[in-house]
Amino acid sequence: MRKELLELTGALKGHIVAVREPGRGISGLYLKGDLRARSLPPIDSVPDNKATHVRSETLDDIRAELGDCTRCKLYSGRHHIVFGEGDPHADLVFVGEAPGGDEDRQGRPFVGRAGKLLSDIITAMGFTREQVYICNILKCRPPQNRNPEPDEIAACEPFLVKQLRAIRPRMICALGKFAAQTLLKTDTPISVLRGRFHSYHDIRLMPTYHPAYLLRNPGAKKQTWEDVQMIMKELR
Ligand code: URA
Repeated sequence: MRKELLELTGALKGHIVAVREPGRGISGLYLKGDLRARSLPPIDSVPDNKATHVRSETLDDIRAELGDCTRCKLYSGRHHIVFGEGDPHADLVFVGEAPGGDEDRQGRPFVGRAGKLLSDIITAMGFTREQVYICNILKCRPPQNRNPEPDEIAACEPFLVKQLRAIRPRMICALGKFAAQTLLKTDTPISVLRGRFHSYHDIRLMPTYHPAYLLRNPGAKKQTWEDVQMIMKELR
């Protein structure tokens, strides 16, 4: 019963979000925890404690500022910080959740089984991994791959914002419930968020299923393929 109610409220929220789209009727509706109801400022206007820089920060500057990070408790269990990799001027950025065991060992994002599937998706989209940028909400592996905790996100997210400001992508693909809900500041289920564009500051954002979820639920690959086709059309 509780599960059914949760599904029902999720679907209802999704419907309200959809009808609130500009030009689609209802406006002024505000859903608790849903930042889309307020419009986020352009990413350039997000406060930056390095605002005195004469030139804007590069990814190398941001990596240097992150240093051998001890800003949250995850530092004690990590082998490597997984900062992100790819084209520093990519049109398309993939944001996942957090490094897993393979990524922690290698210091690179999405290099395990889920990473292989993400690489296949990127290839099917007509890109190479070097032409896009791949990163995560968290830069250190949570123990036993548990979900990121609020204090960890609070410590790490400013660096992701800086990365996005340096890259200035045209599109973000949020991989999975966790990345999508964290970036959009909502608790709407991924099944409702996916399949249409959202706005992250002034950047278009498409949520889709996480590759690890697709490995467990291959039936959902069709929907992810629909989502990435929308991205491809938009980037053409
Ligand atoms: N899952 C993620 O969310 N990110 C990675 O880098 C690897 C697996």
